Amino acid sequence: MSSELPGASELVIGGIITKPGSSLEYKTGDWRVLRPVIDQEKCVRCRLCWVYCPDAAILEVDEEYVTKKGRKYKVSYKVNYDYCKGCGICAEECPVNAIQMVPEYEKKG
Ligand code: SF4
Ligand code: SF4
Repeated sequence: MSSELPGASELVIGGIITKPGSSLEYKTGDWRVLRPVIDQEKCVRCRLCWVYCPDAAILEVDEEYVTKKGRKYKVSYKVNYDYCKGCGICAEECPVNAIQMVPEYEKKG
């Protein structure tokens, strides 16, 4: 056995959060292969995507939006791509199909 390997007492204990709030520094969005894109015209602001997202990656932002037909909304829903893992639950749950899952990377060749 190599003498360079740490001893059992030197190993970091797993499953313990040593620094509270450190999950914010862990940007899980780079796991994604598909990204959700919200069509603001179709979105009826029902908030279901916000409710169902397991990563709290849907943001409700104070951003007004007026549709082409003149319907005015006080909030908009956006995706925080730093943390969205691309699971597609939001797109599955959206009652008006306002969320499309699109490839994160283009195929080469
Ligand atoms: S794809 Fe998944 S992780 Fe990303 S916003 Fe939708 S529900 Fe959340
Ligand atoms: S579930 Fe669809 S319609 Fe509802 S807020 Fe999200 S994107 Fe908009």
